[in-house]
Amino acid sequence: MLTKRILRLQPSATFAIDGKVKSLQAAGISVVNLTLGEPDFVTPKHIRKAAIRAITDGFTHYAPIAGIFELKEAVAKKLLVENGISYQPSEIVIGVGTKQLLYSAFQSLCQKGDEVIVAMPTWNTYIEQIKLAEAAPVCIPLLPPFKLTANMIEKHCNSKTKVILLNSPANPTGAVIEKKELEKIAQLAIERQIFVLSDEIYEKLIYERKHVSIASLGEKIKDLTLTINGFSKSYAMTGWRVGYAAGPKPIVEAMIALAGQTTSGTCSISQKAALHALSGSKKTVEKMVGEFKKRRNYIYTALRQIQGIVPYKTEGAFYAFCSIEKLLNQKYKTSQTWCEALLEKGKVAVIPGEAFYAPGFIPISFAKPISDLRKGVGRIKKFIEGEK
Ligand code: PLP
Repeated sequence: MLTKRILRLQPSATFAIDGKVKSLQAAGISVVNLTLGEPDFVTPKHIRKAAIRAITDGFTHYAPIAGIFELKEAVAKKLLVENGISYQPSEIVIGVGTKQLLYSAFQSLCQKGDEVIVAMPTWNTYIEQIKLAEAAPVCIPLLPPFKLTANMIEKHCNSKTKVILLNSPANPTGAVIEKKELEKIAQLAIERQIFVLSDEIYEKLIYERKHVSIASLGEKIKDLTLTINGFSKSYAMTGWRVGYAAGPKPIVEAMIALAGQTTSGTCSISQKAALHALSGSKKTVEKMVGEFKKRRNYIYTALRQIQGIVPYKTEGAFYAFCSIEKLLNQKYKTSQTWCEALLEKGKVAVIPGEAFYAPGFIPISFAKPISDLRKGVGRIKKFIEGEK
């Protein structure tokens, strides 16, 4: 009954595990959930108030498919001031979160016979969306510290390469591609006329250096790049479903046409809220990033003290990416079986690396209060010691 396309689709591993945890919790079992990439903070008050105002004012009709003009203007201003890229509002599309925009971008740019370069470990949504566009993901396996380089990309390029996918800071490794390397990648993309899709959703969650947008490195690379970002992570707005993409008009217009026949754009009220996220005070965002940095430092130090776990100090995003290879043995041959046992016996939920094409690894989300992290780390330690 179902199509081959849908039968091939892998469900979101993150949401599947989260669902399992929620049903355990509903049965009264205490589980520390360190899976989801979702800030535990509530959306800042001034943003929530803007949404309430939109409802009270009756701003409740269909919004323009490409997004409300004021929001596109605010995004253009943000991209100019914070990222150093100049876009017109007509080169911007607002979507139902970054995920939907990535989907439309792959649908608009890729078809059968095309290849997309993806660094691995990676977020499995990219792979599934590339396959839904009937293109082939070409994965570049990265070793710690998981830095993608122009050299590696070049080795995987051929006449079929249509898109280079960049995600810096990256999910799940937190790795940041530095400016010098981005310049080399830009050069390569220009020489080969390959399109760059740059998912910058974690740009504000960066702890040691400043984020650099590849499209800011010159007009030629800007003409080949679609910059994608959203409000979920930076403004704790996961449930509002707002993202944006900026790039060459033909691509943006194709994405708008696709939205016109699928989503009809995103929620009008959420767009007013997003507008206030950009135009209002940034203090809450700065406070949130400061808190994530404290948690990152805490969890890195705490995990290093557990024998068998090797955490890599993440530069961005909110996942402590750890090797558990030393803990795999006859009993637990894969991170999948190890994580299942950790949930069953240790009552801690983490996502197995397999979901990120990283067997032998686990990303531990630190988008949780320090008290939960402390409890989670304590339980992981107890579980490992109990298994010796
Ligand atoms: N891009 C990356 C790398 C992500 O990790 C996520 C969410 O986990 C998204 C995009 C999706 O974000 P949104 O909520 O804007 O759809």
